[in-house]
Amino acid sequence: MGVTLVMNITIDADVFLFDLDGTIYLGDVPIPGAIETVKYLESLGKRVFFLTNNSGHTGSEYVKKLAKLGYLAQPDQIISSGDATIWYLKSNRSGKSVFPLATKTFTDELKKNSIPISKEADIVLLAFDTTITYEKIWHANILLSKGCEFITTHGDLVCPSEFGNMPDVGSLTALFTSSSGRKPDVICGKPYSIMAELINQRIKNVSLDRVLMIGDRLYTDILFGIKNGYRSVVVLTGETSSDVLDRSDIKPDHIFNSVNDLVQL
Ligand SMILES: [Mg+2]
Repeated sequence: MGVTLVMNITIDADVFLFDLDGTIYLGDVPIPGAIETVKYLESLGKRVFFLTNNSGHTGSEYVKKLAKLGYLAQPDQIISSGDATIWYLKSNRSGKSVFPLATKTFTDELKKNSIPISKEADIVLLAFDTTITYEKIWHANILLSKGCEFITTHGDLVCPSEFGNMPDVGSLTALFTSSSGRKPDVICGKPYSIMAELINQRIKNVSLDRVLMIGDRLYTDILFGIKNGYRSVVVLTGETSSDVLDRSDIKPDHIFNSVNDLVQL
């Protein structure tokens, strides 16, 4: 793409919220032209954020990943379900202790934010945890059975990988629902409102209909837009095909082949 880009006339927004996997890249491979499109939008003075439901990594890891693809993000441009969860705990559960089922990276992030961690916690916090053990599952189940609050970072059932789907937080939640009878009291990531509250705080005076959510999953990205008053674009570079779109009740405002259709040649 060269200097002849112009804004797609069907899209007029001030803030662009991009999903990452399936939208900006697929695993480690960038969607051709996606980074150039993001840079072009910024050259027009548009604000850009990247949202991910993955709570196994921190913002700085995504800054590094985007830098490898050629985009230098500021840390506050990246909002993960883990960030939304930490923000929620600090603003709504101040002083409460958590028992985290989480990677070391996310647990360290909780500590950095002075969130008390304890085995006798007030809250069981379930994040994307590739280090989970039977012992942790058992202990969390004891706490949940005693009536501890149950907070999860997000609800996705699976996380795609090049080898096949990985069980994600939603699948582990189903395990705890079976073993303790408990459903989450709070879910923080897309499509729920906590991540949107954090975004709205960062974008301050922008009216919500000037915010555009762009992503590849209908039941997380697009529903997130619909439920929180943003306009939405589904891109067909990831999970959603036109067949899936036809069958779904979740209807985005726009359907684009890729993020590159946000601009026109
Ligand atoms: Mg995606």
